[in-house]
Amino acid sequence: MKKLELYTGTEQGKPAIGIRLGGEASIQDLLDLWQPLCDDSELFKSYAAGNHATCRGCLHNCCQTAYVIPDLISFKKMAAHLHLTYKEFLSADFFDAEKLEAGIVRMKPNPCIFLQDNICSIYPLRSLICRFYICCQLMGDCEQLIYSICWSGSAATQLFAEQEGLINSKGSGALSSFDLMFKRLMEEYRFDPRVQLFLQANDYYDIPLSAFTAADI
Ligand code: SF4
Ligand code: SF4
Repeated sequence: MKKLELYTGTEQGKPAIGIRLGGEASIQDLLDLWQPLCDDSELFKSYAAGNHATCRGCLHNCCQTAYVIPDLISFKKMAAHLHLTYKEFLSADFFDAEKLEAGIVRMKPNPCIFLQDNICSIYPLRSLICRFYICCQLMGDCEQLIYSICWSGSAATQLFAEQEGLINSKGSGALSSFDLMFKRLMEEYRFDPRVQLFLQANDYYDIPLSAFTAADI
């Protein structure tokens, strides 16, 4: 068995993508396997034109409404790419000022600030939530794994920004129900060792996938 592979199974009677972990693999290994799914027009994608199209140039485009708190690796890479310090990056026009005031590092949405002509202008650096979201059915344990990786990465950004004095976690501002849910989750994740992995890592290669997998994957 390979150290990591994707397979197609069935979830709630529908074809679904699953992950098999057979050895030591990193988040980067999973990203490398996952990327072709975005470019695969054979897959059934709920919102793609005709349900079978690549994500590139998609007119429905999940980036129009995505709620993105970048994971810490992506956050640092985007700031470096823009030649900005973390403070400058957060103060520039890329983040939702109202949410920042409330202590949430949410990128400017509706559409995402980085969306240009229906294409992501920072595609290779985009956050994990952007990389892993495809509007396909996922096997339950696969969904849980992706969820756990993405939330840990986003929580690490929040913690990093707090630790560096870049945001006030107790800030006040208008909060939606999703913001409140995130804040609650943030408290749950705050002392999670998986968040520490993101805080200590230089890149996705440094983060072992096994830290996020349920025993049955
Ligand atoms: S960063 Fe790129 S992929 Fe992510 S929501 Fe924005 S435009 Fe879409
Ligand atoms: S994942 Fe997003 S970009 Fe890709 S087909 Fe679905 S809605 Fe379109």
